[in-house]
Amino acid sequence: MTSARGKITLIGAGLNGPLLAILLKQRGFDVEIYERRSDMRRVSMSAGRSINLAVSARGIHGLKKAGVWDQMQGIIIPMRGRMMHSVAGELTFQPYGRNEAEVINSTSRAALNIALLDAAENLGVAIHFNRRCVGCDVKTGAISLRNEETGGTTVHAADLVIGCDGSASAIRAAMIQIQNFTLTEAQLDYGYKELTIPASANGKHLLEPHALHIWPRGNLMLIALPNIDGTFGCILFLPFEGADSFCRLSTESDVVGLFEDRFPDALRLIPDLVSNYFANPTGSMVTVKCSPWHVGGKVLMLGDSAHAIVPFFGQGINCGFEDCTSLVDLIDRHGPDWALVFSEFERARKVNTDAIADMAIENFMEMRDRVADPRFLFRKKVELALEARYPRLFVPKYSMVTFHRIPYAVAMQRGAIQDRILTELCDSIDSVESLDWQKIDHLIHRDLTPLEMGE
Ligand SMILES: Cc1cc2nc3c(=O)[nH]c(=O)nc-3n(C[C@H](O)[C@H](O)[C@H](O)COP(=O)(O)OP(=O)(O)OC[C@H]3O[C@@H](n4cnc5c(N)ncnc54)[C@H](O)[C@@H]3O)c2cc1C
Repeated sequence: MTSARGKITLIGAGLNGPLLAILLKQRGFDVEIYERRSDMRRVSMSAGRSINLAVSARGIHGLKKAGVWDQMQGIIIPMRGRMMHSVAGELTFQPYGRNEAEVINSTSRAALNIALLDAAENLGVAIHFNRRCVGCDVKTGAISLRNEETGGTTVHAADLVIGCDGSASAIRAAMIQIQNFTLTEAQLDYGYKELTIPASANGKHLLEPHALHIWPRGNLMLIALPNIDGTFGCILFLPFEGADSFCRLSTESDVVGLFEDRFPDALRLIPDLVSNYFANPTGSMVTVKCSPWHVGGKVLMLGDSAHAIVPFFGQGINCGFEDCTSLVDLIDRHGPDWALVFSEFERARKVNTDAIADMAIENFMEMRDRVADPRFLFRKKVELALEARYPRLFVPKYSMVTFHRIPYAVAMQRGAIQDRILTELCDSIDSVESLDWQKIDHLIHRDLTPLEMGE
């Protein structure tokens, strides 16, 4: 497949852009990317790009398909479960899955981005940095690009445009040219701040490295994910307003005071808390739902540009990479009949991206309010016991989303049924030994059908 069939122009060289470029290039398409930032391999990283990501089954599938997974082994740390920190400093470990294979993988966003940029360029993808898309005629594919170094703007006639330009997408903004375009952008009333737990003097992790650490405190939460260099990338989630909110933290003593009160063990681990706090911007989180995602066979959006979600299920990039693999699977099936491929893509994906958007909000409540609750921990134990007994019938929602590639919409629907079963089973008992297996057998066979697990 050559340029006779036109060039594919991607906007955005974040995570989805380069992965999609690799997958398209592997199929012989001519691909270029325009990215508004400088090349992160050549200039120092700006704040906001050092966040760790948890990569799981869907993301791994995409990386394997692109041939990048093997080389990532040196930049990931498997996390086997959540490690909860109480205010008194007590630790409770809650495994994510049933065995060593059911882990999520912590990686630095920058390291993953660099691995993808290198792999895309090695295949011959042209990546133009410092080119910001400032407009797009979605009917013709003409894109306006501002050179961020000179300030000059040029118009580029693209044969086909794919917006991979993230949650504040310029391509999405241009979609308002379409009459039937609908868009909801729901901003969370919480923000986040990046902080870092440094390594010990001998370069070791100061906390258990194979866990995602959580300090759940009702309306506020701190999490920490391990890095291979012995550090932990932390994220502090707080409401923007009200008690214990970002707007109440304006002095050094406000910040230290909050940590002394709510996260005393973490305070001892973050010597640069105050400088980290005031140097790093406060990020915001948004859920974006829109439709359509494409204009005929000319323009398409995928990843966060089409469906940004809040980060509490650790699925944003896993979902984005699943977009990329689904799109190329459709191209493999239909060939470059772009209008057909794009409309099939949206039909297959939208119901699932809407589902993970809703589940991510639910998980926000769960991580914030419930992970420290003994009844919640008991339900999790029961879930794992049911899964062990009925591995194809009862798979916990977290596992369906994280360790399998079961469609998100199916995971959400079965998760709701399973929740009802768990409530019925757990409400009157407090040990796994007291489970009534006859009743369980009846409920499970009545309400659930065997799952298509895929790989
Ligand atoms: C705090 C936090 C934690 C997260 N944790 C996880 C996690 O654990 N697991 C997970 O799977 N997901 C996680 N996510 C979500 C994940 O980061 C996103 O889903 C993912 O980055 C989306 O990839 P993308 O390529 O669509 O967009 P982005 O990664 O945002 O990339 C978009 C790119 O487009 C460029 N761009 C933007 N506008 C323009 C323009 N006008 N012209 C040219 N270029 C442009 C940007 O500079 C950027 O490089 C997290 C997100 C946040 C905020």
